Amino acid sequence: MSDTQPPRRPVPRLAGAREQLQRSRKFANSVVQEITDDDERTPLPQVPTATRLGLVSCHACDLVSPRSLEGQPCPRCGATLHHRKPDSLARTWAFLLSAYMLYIPANLLPVMVTQSILGTQQDTILSGVIYLWLSGSRLLAGIVLIASIIVPLLKMVILTLLLVSVHMRSTWRLRQRTKLYGLVEVIGRWSMLDIFVVALLASLVRAGALATIIPGGGALAFASVVVLTMLASLSFDPRLLWDSLEQQDARD
Ligand SMILES: [Zn+2]
Repeated sequence: MSDTQPPRRPVPRLAGAREQLQRSRKFANSVVQEITDDDERTPLPQVPTATRLGLVSCHACDLVSPRSLEGQPCPRCGATLHHRKPDSLARTWAFLLSAYMLYIPANLLPVMVTQSILGTQQDTILSGVIYLWLSGSRLLAGIVLIASIIVPLLKMVILTLLLVSVHMRSTWRLRQRTKLYGLVEVIGRWSMLDIFVVALLASLVRAGALATIIPGGGALAFASVVVLTMLASLSFDPRLLWDSLEQQDARD
């Protein structure tokens, strides 16, 4: 009995591990397929679009009206009818370039100034991350690094790529690019984390007489970057990506 028991034990564990491995491999495969899924492999359906039919949909209530009513109030809800978000590219570029410019002071200026009887300490986002890492809070350091430095930068880079691709009238991987826009919308809300941390610390520590924490100039710049990238992604009209396809079809 004692000879047969030990080798039996690892079997169910191994089976479980194999199952887990298979599941994660399946998941990885689906992710890879999603990324590399070519528009040519799964052809885009040839469906009539509102533009082709000469229609415009209301952005507030989705009522479909003839294109001739563009610029006038929607017959149902009264919102102004637009074929695409007005001046989408120019507005997105303006917000995005301002965000790029403010991203520099957001990372170079102190986000948090700590005044205590021991002196004044100024912390930038990166020095905060390094401090957290060295003091042992590696998980928190990772979260702050991703939320405050990587996410805003990633968001700006993706929006730039989308804008450039619209200017180039690219019809390359339209589905994936639409998904990238969706990603920008999803990850955007996580970049406000640092401001919450500073606000929380400031309100907590101000109560004490020994130390005070005040938000530095970097915090203002950082909050502006977050708001500007949010406005940029709001101003961008993802339908502009698909208009390139429409224009290409019209030319053919
Ligand atoms: Zn309407």
